[in-house]
Amino acid sequence: MGSIIILDENTANKIAAGEVIERPASVIKELVENSIDAGSGSISIEIKNGGISYIKVSDNGCGMAADDVEIAFERHSTSKIRNADDLDTISSMGFRGEALASIAAVSSVQLVTRTPGSNQGNRIDVTGGRVMDVKPTGCPTGTTVKIKDLFFNTPARFKFLKKDATEAGYVSDIISRIALGNPHISFKLTANGAGVLHTPGNSDQLSAIFSIYGKEVSKAVNVVAYDDGRLKITGFAGRPEIARSSRTYQSVYINRRFIKSKTISSAIDEAYNTYLMKNKHAFVVLNIELNPVLVDVNVHPSKMEVKFSNEQDVFKAVYNAISNSLQQQSGIRTIQPEAKERSLFKMTPEMKTVKTDYTQTVIDAAGKKSETFIPRVREPEPNEYGPEIKCNTPELQVHSEQEAQYMTEASDTPSQHDKILLREARIIGQVFSTYILLQQEDELILVDQHAAHERIMYEELKARFEKNEPMSQFMISPLSVELTYQEFEFLQEHSMFFGRLGFQYDGFGTNSIILRAVPTGRETDNVRELFLEVLDFLLKSGRSKSGMPADETLYMMACKAAVKANRALEEPEVRTLLDRLSEVENPYTCPHGRPSAIKLRKYDLEKMFKRIV
Ligand code: ADP
Ligand code: MG
Repeated sequence: MGSIIILDENTANKIAAGEVIERPASVIKELVENSIDAGSGSISIEIKNGGISYIKVSDNGCGMAADDVEIAFERHSTSKIRNADDLDTISSMGFRGEALASIAAVSSVQLVTRTPGSNQGNRIDVTGGRVMDVKPTGCPTGTTVKIKDLFFNTPARFKFLKKDATEAGYVSDIISRIALGNPHISFKLTANGAGVLHTPGNSDQLSAIFSIYGKEVSKAVNVVAYDDGRLKITGFAGRPEIARSSRTYQSVYINRRFIKSKTISSAIDEAYNTYLMKNKHAFVVLNIELNPVLVDVNVHPSKMEVKFSNEQDVFKAVYNAISNSLQQQSGIRTIQPEAKERSLFKMTPEMKTVKTDYTQTVIDAAGKKSETFIPRVREPEPNEYGPEIKCNTPELQVHSEQEAQYMTEASDTPSQHDKILLREARIIGQVFSTYILLQQEDELILVDQHAAHERIMYEELKARFEKNEPMSQFMISPLSVELTYQEFEFLQEHSMFFGRLGFQYDGFGTNSIILRAVPTGRETDNVRELFLEVLDFLLKSGRSKSGMPADETLYMMACKAAVKANRALEEPEVRTLLDRLSEVENPYTCPHGRPSAIKLRKYDLEKMFKRIV
């Protein structure tokens, strides 16, 4: 007799459950997605013991008709697609039609539902895949699903569950992601009776960010807005100061579905490359809209992994969307009193001082009003370089909402504003032979001279490199350099690349070269050392698929070329440094992502000195 049999439906469902239903968080994800598909405006989730003993998801969506209640628990039952062609254009969250069947196979489920059109609802109880009871009941419109004793009949799964608190953590993570991606829906999560999160559902994603991550984060994000006709990207890109050491704070949505994609993660990394230190990951919330035909969400049962028909286009769009946002909006970081310390103070609304003579209302030919930034002409002050002790001058105090308005209405972005600031600010002096101190209005600015110079050098080198116009200088007495065979070969092979970096050389005898030209603008006179370091670096990093690591080499050269910390600078040198800094694309971080300048506001100083409480 043959040994192949057809599995009974219940066993098949248990196996299917293994694919999608791993833990309470995955049950909740499926239930909440059903509630979203049902057009709900508010969804509330309750869990006990991390969801292991109890889960309840209630929505105010379309509900289910009496006839559908039982069918919904059958495998491959779905109201969302009718045939395979629909898979190409799917816009709902669910469509595999197996979630309810799978969940009911491994737990006790009670579902209560009513459609707006009917005056009574229905209730169904299913345990371990068996329908125990179906009957009419009174209930509000919408659907409530209660799950008890998850994995009671699959001990192997049960054993893999983690501590209640860990499971609760997974639940709150998944709800946070879904809530962020659906700001038009209000989400409420309670665990063991205590509120965990609650979003307003007012369609404003920044409000959702505020509810989930708090004030500090929601204040430190830049708007992302990008549209190239095929991909539309909106959302928020965190400023470098809120970067974290894991990717947990990156949420990406494709047509509202929370997804994970290596292509998108690397595009984010690439865009933040010179803004963040190594191993730091930006806070990012990105909503990508594209034609559903161009993306396959059915790669994995959990529908979290996606495949794009053109990964490269997606990479470029995400990269550009974030880069634009960072360049337009990032400025010098404002240092505020430590959060811990702050809680000791009585909090007052955040204020910012804005001098009105900085903006001017302009009416253009079409009669459209706009505000323009008018830089003030810097005039030497009598006590230009002496200590300045000033009393409070009456200034216009602007509260946070007004501040936000100012930020969006004024035509100058914080980045442009800060570039002007670098040119216009009064130089107070240099401290610790490392930091340049500046003051403008009510802000004290500290510039790290090495980081600043590194950024200048990097951008200059890069611009020349890209235009293939190296900053090269021929040496009066060329230098002979002896090498190993491997080094010599490498230099022969890559002489073009070295030429673009500013090094020119000829072969000279066996395994030695004559160095004739080296990059200009160096701090170091030891050109041999610089040359060998670049050579070592390139030999070590080797050639990748995408060619020589040009960017990294340029960082390294910029670092070598930059003025070191611990060097006293004369006032004209400082001026030149600041002027050059104000001209580069991104003056606010060194190429390794460390800040090159920070700001301290008078208001915060006053708070620290408790002049303001
Ligand atoms: P899928 O979501 O893939 O269609 P499910 O097993 O998750 O499959 O759900 C089966 C069907 O049950 C859905 O297609 C839908 O018609 C109905 N359903 C499930 N949950 C709800 C809900 N909260 N509100 C209204 N209908 C629901
Ligand atoms: Mg579903």
